[in-house]
Amino acid sequence: MKASAATACGGSRQRFFARIGCVALLLISAIAALSPTAVGATPQPLLAFSARVAGDEARTRIVIDFEKKPEFSVHYVAAPERVIVDLPATAFGFPAEDLSARGLFKDIRYGTMGEASARIVLTAKKPVKLSIAEVQSNDNGSYRLVLDAEMASKEVFADLVKTQNWAMPRAAAPDPLAMAVKVKDNVFTVAVDAGHGGIDAGATGAGTKTPEKTITLAFAKTLAERLNKVDGIKAFLTRDDDTFLSLSERVTLARQGHADLFVSAHADTLGQKDIRGATVYTLSDKASDRMAENLATRENLSDELAGYTLQSGPPEVADILLDLTRRETQAFSIALATNVVESFEGQIGLINNPHRYAGFQVLRAPDIPSVLLELGFLSNAEDEKLLLDESWRSKVIDRMVDAIRRYRDRAVANGG
Ligand SMILES: [Zn+2]
Repeated sequence: MKASAATACGGSRQRFFARIGCVALLLISAIAALSPTAVGATPQPLLAFSARVAGDEARTRIVIDFEKKPEFSVHYVAAPERVIVDLPATAFGFPAEDLSARGLFKDIRYGTMGEASARIVLTAKKPVKLSIAEVQSNDNGSYRLVLDAEMASKEVFADLVKTQNWAMPRAAAPDPLAMAVKVKDNVFTVAVDAGHGGIDAGATGAGTKTPEKTITLAFAKTLAERLNKVDGIKAFLTRDDDTFLSLSERVTLARQGHADLFVSAHADTLGQKDIRGATVYTLSDKASDRMAENLATRENLSDELAGYTLQSGPPEVADILLDLTRRETQAFSIALATNVVESFEGQIGLINNPHRYAGFQVLRAPDIPSVLLELGFLSNAEDEKLLLDESWRSKVIDRMVDAIRRYRDRAVANGG
């Protein structure tokens, strides 16, 4: 009896990770495991009820206990060296400290990737390989996933990355032709994007430990709801639950929904705890200041945290039309940012120089004016209180609706 999808194609554990064909098989079993059952019922999530990490910088063992036998697959991603463990939908029911990074790993994250999948991302301090990756049965009828990592040479790690034929899920590149024949309708559509989600929790409140992803989702849901009450405006959410979305998936969802505007909500942390207030960001290859640059760098790490390979941005399309579109979009984005600042002034606390810019990946839709709204900073105690206060959030939403409505009115008046 084979213990899991991983061992099913293994044979000897040592040879397992060197076998190319195996990965394809793994992927197939993973997909099979993730597909809903024939009846179409959503499978119950697996319960992972306890976890432990032990070892040193030469060998590290990670053990996670599951109520039922988990199917899983393992992959390696470079720069930085990471081991990715994909699981079916899983409820992680153990305290976060039990799976805190140590030994060979400097960061361990886990969480939801989609409705039917979860992921563990182990970021290593140096090249590693798993000598054991298997499911064993416990005496009490439960199962444990055992991952034994050991240090490896750069060459061995590079080989592990190269020999796995595993394409990362990628969002489709924008189609310039589709952009040229943009559907003209009378509805002004706004894509509301709740920053972070799933495995990427974003920042954490200094006092309450509330994750940024929860605050952004609550804000986005209410903003979309309130925008939908305005005549001639239709809003939709890029995510409406605690799911991970890559940065390019967010952009693609906005484009597929024919959005006329994209608003991404965040509440990050800063090193300087005294800085507070809202900021509106637009896209620029050159950042307005150091703070904006650092923030964009951290935001752009989201894909990496979730185990995606680092991308320098969507593939460039050499096209004059696209270039013109980009420039026009940029002007509209700045106009919206100005409207937001005007609507907030005197009502909502703003940082000094509240319109800033940097290279945020999530703002890169070439044809959709986009802004990223930092509601406030979770690193500041007063801001944290406000961010968790529903009536304050409601006031901010009121001001955002005002800004978007004014922007829309002008765009419509100009025949846009
Ligand atoms: Zn954020």
